[in-house]
Amino acid sequence: MQARLLKEADMYPYFKEISSNQSDTSIIDGKEVLMFGSNNYLGLNNHPEVKEASIQAIKKYGTSCTGSRFMNGTIDLHHKLENELAEWLGKERTIVFPTGFQVNTGVIPAMVGKNDYILIDELDHASIIDGCRMSMAQRIKYRHNSPMSLEQKLNHISSKKGTKLIVTDGIFSMDGDIARLDKIVEVAKKHDAFTFVDCAHAIGVIGNHGAGTSSHYGVTDEVDLIGGTFSKSLASVGGFVAGSNDIIEYLNHASRTYMFSASLPPSSTASALATLRVIRSDDSHRLRLWDNTLYAIRCMKEIGFDIGMAETPIIPIYVRDSVLTFQIARDILKRGIYVNPVVAPGVKENDALLRFSLTAVHTKEQIDFAIENIAAVLKEHNILKGELCQLR
Ligand code: PMP
Repeated sequence: MQARLLKEADMYPYFKEISSNQSDTSIIDGKEVLMFGSNNYLGLNNHPEVKEASIQAIKKYGTSCTGSRFMNGTIDLHHKLENELAEWLGKERTIVFPTGFQVNTGVIPAMVGKNDYILIDELDHASIIDGCRMSMAQRIKYRHNSPMSLEQKLNHISSKKGTKLIVTDGIFSMDGDIARLDKIVEVAKKHDAFTFVDCAHAIGVIGNHGAGTSSHYGVTDEVDLIGGTFSKSLASVGGFVAGSNDIIEYLNHASRTYMFSASLPPSSTASALATLRVIRSDDSHRLRLWDNTLYAIRCMKEIGFDIGMAETPIIPIYVRDSVLTFQIARDILKRGIYVNPVVAPGVKENDALLRFSLTAVHTKEQIDFAIENIAAVLKEHNILKGELCQLR
């Protein structure tokens, strides 16, 4: 549906102006709402140490590095962040990029070219798809989270000479399920393929001290590259890729979105570093996030929401109709709850959904209020059948 038509029908949900952000609540269009649409999984964007680190970095380095990493734009804070990330992720070396989107559009074209092959999950993020396009390699999609489908696709090209690269989200950004990376690396090994896992939504959330999907399965040594972003659990902006010394040294000189774009600003570098230190030293944020996540999943299942394979703080509430999804998101917002409506091409045509995401700082009362009100709206629109119950 076009933006103009959505606006005329008072259903346009995008570019809402937020004038204050307190992790669990935001002020949107002048009204305080419960925020169940952010990627602020650990709720650390208002952590005092994180904010103070940004302020101090601005005082010391100014507001910008005024250059790209390989010219005048590298500061000691970049190296500190890269070293601590590498240690956390269990890889030899890491480099940081201006955004997570630029990680995928920089790393993929550096790894593969015209006569090579990229195998991607059909639900991989848009930045992975754009990275594939920029690489000119042949892109082959396998069925969502199906190592068997991946293997079949690799069998078809087993006699081909080019490099084979498998790229998967670590936690899928809309459907919220965890990639079966343990099986994917087994298939990769059999077919001599490289693996690259984008842990944008997984770092801070799963794995040892939140180290992401490869750590979750204990396959860090088997994965060639781990990518991610600072714009979610890391409470900042920017991205990274981690791998062996050799591959990262190569990417340092071959990844165009890293080399030819201004480097990560001091304030963002400092806040990512401070958040990383909080995450590594204090598991309580992650544990609270999981307590909230399991509670919300259980309540939603009890009430009868269609939440598919939900198993992480990203919970898709399937509506499966685009116009209805917009209407429902609007009506939920009127009740003081923000969730993201997601329609094609963000998801498949018949998988339109409300993306409900949790943070460590939500209270059980806030979660109850949100679920009860979403249930009431779903019922008004005949998506949910049966009697509504009070959660507590
Ligand atoms: N990868 C995935 C899986 C994502 O969901 C996103 C952002 N939503 C990105 C990469 C891009 O990250 P960034 O916001 O840092 O550009």
